[in-house]
Amino acid sequence: MYDTIIIGSGPAGMTAALYAARSNLKVAVLEQGAPGGQMNNTSDIENYPGYEMISGPELSMKMHEPLEKFGVENLYGIVSAVEDHGEFKKVLTEDASYETKTVIVATGAKHRPLEVAGEETYNSRGVSYCAVCDGAFFRGQDLLVVGGGDSAVEEALFLTRFANKVTIVHRRDELRAQKVLQDRAFANDKVDFIWDSVVKEIKGNDVKVTSVDIENVKTGQVTNHEFGGVFIYVGLDPVSSMVEGLSITDEAGWIPTDEHMNTKAAGIFAVGDVRQKDLRQITTAVGDGATAAQSAYQYIVNNF
Ligand SMILES: Cc1cc2nc3c(=O)[nH]c(=O)nc-3n(C[C@H](O)[C@H](O)[C@H](O)COP(=O)(O)OP(=O)(O)OC[C@H]3O[C@@H](n4cnc5c(N)ncnc54)[C@H](O)[C@@H]3O)c2cc1C
Repeated sequence: MYDTIIIGSGPAGMTAALYAARSNLKVAVLEQGAPGGQMNNTSDIENYPGYEMISGPELSMKMHEPLEKFGVENLYGIVSAVEDHGEFKKVLTEDASYETKTVIVATGAKHRPLEVAGEETYNSRGVSYCAVCDGAFFRGQDLLVVGGGDSAVEEALFLTRFANKVTIVHRRDELRAQKVLQDRAFANDKVDFIWDSVVKEIKGNDVKVTSVDIENVKTGQVTNHEFGGVFIYVGLDPVSSMVEGLSITDEAGWIPTDEHMNTKAAGIFAVGDVRQKDLRQITTAVGDGATAAQSAYQYIVNNF
C-alpha cells in the first residue's frame, strides 16, 4: 500500500511528490502523459521566481528530474476513478488498481472550447489551443487569437515570431491580461485588436481554415476576415471526472479545499488548477503541492 498517490504530474503534482518523498512517504505519481502538464504547452515563462525566462518544457524537466532521486515511483495510466474506503483509498486506471492511505488530486485544468461552428471540423487543421505546439506551422500567415487573459496575450506575442500578423479578438473593450503583457502587445507592430467582438464561425476549404466570421457584440454586425489559423484561449475547465463519485467538487467541477488542501473527504487532498481558487499559475500550484504533501504526512501520522 502506498502512503500517497498523486494523480497528475504538473507543477502541483510534482511538488507534492517531492515534498512527500522527502518526508519519507511511499509515493507514486500516476500520469497519463509527459510530466509537466500545461507547462508543456507554454512558451516563455517569465513569472517563475529564480528564472528571468524559461520555456515550459524546460521547467517541466527541471521539476521532474529530482523526483526519482528521492524514490518517487512514476506510474503511467489514465485514472478513471478514486474510491474512498475510509482507512484506505483505491485509485483505478483502465487496467490497474492501487491502494493508498491518501490521495492528492493534481489533475489540473484543460482549455475551454469556443463551441462555435467550424471549431471541431478544423481542429488541428488551423484551429489550435497550443501556440508552442503548432505556432511554427503558421509561418508567414495571418493568425487570430481568441481571448483577453494572460494566456491569450502571452501566446499571441509568441506567435509573432512566426506569423505575418496576429489579431486578438476579445469580447470586451479592454484586456484582462497582466499590465506588462498588455504593454508588450500594444507596442508590437505585428499585433492588432478587434474589440467588443466574438467569433461566430470558423470557415475553411475542407482542408484548412481560411477565414473567420466575427460579430461585434455592441452593433450585432458580422464581418468576415481571412486567417490561416485560430488559436483559442477563452478559459479553463477542471479535470475532475475521476473524483465525481466522491462528491467533493462544486457544480462546475472545481474542488473546494481548506488552506491545508483538505477536500470534503478525509485523506483526499486537491492541489493546483483543479482546486477552486482565484489565481491559477505555476507558483500557486507549487505552493499547493508542498502544503498538501505536509497535510498528507500529518494525516498518516495521526491515523495510522
Ligand atoms: C498557454 C498557457 C500559458 C501559461 N503561461 C503561464 C505562465 O507564464 N506562468 C504561470 O505561472 N502559469 C502559466 N500557465 C498556467 C500554468 O501552466 C498552470 O497554472 C499550471 O500548469 C497548473 O498546474 P497543475 O499541476 O495544477 O495542473 P496541470 O499543469 O494542468 O497538470 C495536470 C496533470 O494531470 C494529468 N492528468 C489529468 N487527468 C489525469 C488522469 N485522469 N489520469 C492521469 N493523469 C491525469 C495531466 O496529464 C497533467 O499532466 C499557462 C497555461 C497555459 C495553458
